[in-house]
Amino acid sequence: MSEPILYTSPVPEQAPSKKAALLALLMDLQVHTNLECMDAGGARAGARLLELRREGWCIETHFVETRRGRYSYQLHSKNQGEHVLNELGKCKRCGEQVSPF
Ligand SMILES: [Zn+2]
Repeated sequence: MSEPILYTSPVPEQAPSKKAALLALLMDLQVHTNLECMDAGGARAGARLLELRREGWCIETHFVETRRGRYSYQLHSKNQGEHVLNELGKCKRCGEQVSPF
């Protein structure tokens, strides 16, 4: 007979809510600076943005020098997975390769 092993796993910092806050910020479809994104999504906003992109959100990165930062981000559709594809299956807005053809 062996003792049951009890795991106490630490609850990670609530990434989903940070991600939701970041998505909520972007939902106005306006351009937001990296600092605005960090206000909403925390210090690891960049990682959150990557997760959102992987989930199909059409988020464009603008490389522009602004008062509050160098990068800014813009969500292009309130519908997850909605992209505007060119003839090669790549999104014209976020640059994501959506379709292999
Ligand atoms: Zn896109």
